[in-house]
Amino acid sequence: MVKSKPPRTFSYKRCPDCLTTLELTATVCIACRRRVGTVDRQGRAKRPVNYIGYLAALFWVVILMGYIWFFFIRSP
Ligand SMILES: [Zn+2]
Repeated sequence: MVKSKPPRTFSYKRCPDCLTTLELTATVCIACRRRVGTVDRQGRAKRPVNYIGYLAALFWVVILMGYIWFFFIRSP
């Protein structure tokens, strides 16, 4: 006879960085002040995607390409 596992539900989640127990509705860790996302299947909070970081990285790549173009590729 095969027992069907009930879906796991959590009444709390853990910060992915410092493993502090947080409420499910928490969006910021109370201990390390990092942003936390929704709970995953292991009961840990997911790290929210850092869009600002991606945008900043893209910005600096564009600046670098412009620099290379300006000083090395641009015809005099
Ligand atoms: Zn934390």
